[in-house]
Amino acid sequence: MELPMLREARCTDCGDCVPICPTDCLAMKGGMPWLARPRACVGCGACALVCPTDAITMQEWGGDLGGAMALPKSDSNDSSTITDY
Ligand code: SF4
Ligand code: SF4
Repeated sequence: MELPMLREARCTDCGDCVPICPTDCLAMKGGMPWLARPRACVGCGACALVCPTDAITMQEWGGDLGGAMALPKSDSNDSSTITDY
């Protein structure tokens, strides 16, 4: 399943990706979008499409989603890591 990944350096904190989500699984936290309800994400890509700066990309993720997590950071050292909050 594909999940949204955030390229932090491109994010302008506009928040446009949050209300577009059809399953209401994104929230803003610390000025960045946060995948607050990862199990609710259906991988539709709407958040990536609406982002005016292409800060969100959809990438395959096969790991355990666990509890509430940050959007994976594609510009971090380990792009495959979802950060636990
Ligand atoms: S991919 Fe779709 S369901 Fe998942 S966070 Fe983005 S808008 Fe929401
Ligand atoms: S729409 Fe893009 S620039 Fe705006 S908060 Fe979301 S990821 Fe950041």
